[in-house]
Amino acid sequence: MFFLLTASISQLPGIGPNLALKFEKLGVLTLDDLIHYYPRKWEDLSAISPLIQAQPGQKITTQAKILTISHFRSPYKKMFITNAVIQDDSASMRVVWFNQPYLQTVLKKNIPYYFSGQINSWQKQLTLMNPVFELADHLPLHAGRIVSIYPETTGISSKIIRRSIKTLLNTIRHISEILPTEITKKYNLVPLSSAMENIHFPASKTELKLARHRLSFDELFFIQLSLSFIKQNWEKQLSQPITSAKDFISQFQKHLNFVLTDSQIKAIKEILRDLSSSKATNRLLLGDVGSGKTVVAAAAIVTAVQNGYQTALMAPTEILAIQHYQNLKPLLDKFGINTTLLTGSTKLAGYPKIAAGKIDLVVGTHALIQKSVIFKNLNLVIVDEQHRFGVGQRYQLKNKATKYIPHFISLSATPIPRTIFLTLFSDLDVSTLTEIPHGRLPIITRLATSNNLVRIQTLIKKEVAVGHKIFVITSLINEDTKAERASIASEMTNLIKLFPRIKIAALHGKMSAEAKLKTMQDFKEGATEILLATSVIEVGIDIAKATVVWIKNAERFGLAQLHQLRGRVGRSIYQSYCLIETKANDPETMERLQAFIRINDGAKLAQMDLALRGPGAFFNTQQSGFLKLKIANLMDKQLIKITHQAARNLIKSDTLLKKYPELKQKIQPNLLPHAE
Ligand code: ADP
Ligand code: MG
Repeated sequence: MFFLLTASISQLPGIGPNLALKFEKLGVLTLDDLIHYYPRKWEDLSAISPLIQAQPGQKITTQAKILTISHFRSPYKKMFITNAVIQDDSASMRVVWFNQPYLQTVLKKNIPYYFSGQINSWQKQLTLMNPVFELADHLPLHAGRIVSIYPETTGISSKIIRRSIKTLLNTIRHISEILPTEITKKYNLVPLSSAMENIHFPASKTELKLARHRLSFDELFFIQLSLSFIKQNWEKQLSQPITSAKDFISQFQKHLNFVLTDSQIKAIKEILRDLSSSKATNRLLLGDVGSGKTVVAAAAIVTAVQNGYQTALMAPTEILAIQHYQNLKPLLDKFGINTTLLTGSTKLAGYPKIAAGKIDLVVGTHALIQKSVIFKNLNLVIVDEQHRFGVGQRYQLKNKATKYIPHFISLSATPIPRTIFLTLFSDLDVSTLTEIPHGRLPIITRLATSNNLVRIQTLIKKEVAVGHKIFVITSLINEDTKAERASIASEMTNLIKLFPRIKIAALHGKMSAEAKLKTMQDFKEGATEILLATSVIEVGIDIAKATVVWIKNAERFGLAQLHQLRGRVGRSIYQSYCLIETKANDPETMERLQAFIRINDGAKLAQMDLALRGPGAFFNTQQSGFLKLKIANLMDKQLIKITHQAARNLIKSDTLLKKYPELKQKIQPNLLPHAE
């Protein structure tokens, strides 16, 4: 049979509306989605071993017949047990299945099956435990071969997925090649159709390896192609230079109440140099939490406004945008800069002023990239915590300027591993803040347990007594509003019990901008002493007097995230503390948290996080789907280099991909600048 891949999954024989719905949960709507639903891993069940050689602990695949079989309910644990004896040419063996009553109608005696499973000693007898099985009368699909294991969901097992894709095998074999022959030849890639077949039904380990390589190549290649395409077409456009006086930095310094570090001065110089060019600045400012990136950004804003341009500062959360607005305004006021805050929940009132050029700096969230926000002469865009944004969003904001491209600076505390850097940010220049402001004490990190609760209470009371501020962070199992309220409410009850005389306020993502603003203000300068917050405060929040951050359910956070949370304290000269609490006690979690206690270097923690949790989790981008690679490994330096080169060469030879309409279609829309 032959199928149109654009057809709905329900077109497949055996997939009714019920199953189709379940597939939908896996993101599989069409047949095309299905064949691109790649296995999570592969198990080699191909080597058939004679039963006589079976050893306890071993995983085996055997071809055997069932001699006897019985089904019964175990009286002790209410378990349904299937008991059988199987035999091949060499020996016989006992087989046991637990809780699979349907086996009564499925398994038949005296016909050959493949069985794959683990040998254990059970009730003092060598037993094949819970094996998967399949009739051995046709080409094997589920056993007796290299078998693909898929990410599953309730009601959809790997077996079902395998069977469904098997129906499409003929269609898969007719998939036409998408890459130009020069590329498949030059990089020794197997044909797409063969790769697609072998990824699901590997003929051998070698074939599987070639298939993975080919499909990983494609995945990375299309990212690279999209980026090269964007880059080529950006670079043709010019920017308006922003110039500054020779003594700009010393003038700027005069308005600060601290002395800029050497790192900050160096970064400002690098930025000023970039800005003075008619090639658009595209610089990343890296610096660990608390290293003072904001003031560097402020210097760039001041010089741009002094040149008569508008600027925009974009933050990933409303709370952070509000804080930037509050912190920057007093400084920028001194330079006569008109600043406004624009977030999802603020009124549209500011729009006409922005369009008329009466506002010099707009601080906001992604609301800034809405179509309705029109600037008069935007020429500098700064994105804080840029690793939280997709590339598409960045370019959309860039596209706000009409004729010229605005200069672009991004700030991040998350050092980007080199390979990822090459993949996604290869057009960026980087400045790094290597020192933190003088006079800071290292933060003391401790595990909070019920045993030291009294000491924690004492510490917090003591800190509050001298006017310091406390963060308590609760995490959420899921991000829906109800759960957020519930976890805040129960934690609030706890805290009130522990600290009856201390003023506690709560802050979470679903509050209105006004309420957030007021809560932050009360915490920063007013009466609030403990701020109970969800991880909405994870990035950027800067409260000088905060000295304790108490993180509940620490196991739910990644290392980079924990480091960000810890970075909410220790931002001034006071000794600060980070308390991490967890109910988990598995060795893996404890090891992770111990590493966090020991290591205070954001770059090191980020590397560990990446190794432990992968780039998607690391960049916090699961929702956007960005960087959620299906098969390629973002750590594969070699492949990244090769695909980068292949994409660049292709774009160089055909900038607009006129000769390759199919490839142009593959350019990922979320990487593309917004067409307005
Ligand atoms: P981050 O790099 O994490 O964004 P911020 O820019 O929020 O850090 O700066 C952290 C705190 O340090 C702020 O309160 C800021 O005013 C202060 N700060 C920045 N630079 C210096 C400096 N050179 N000396 C002292 N304090 C500084
Ligand atoms: Mg910051």
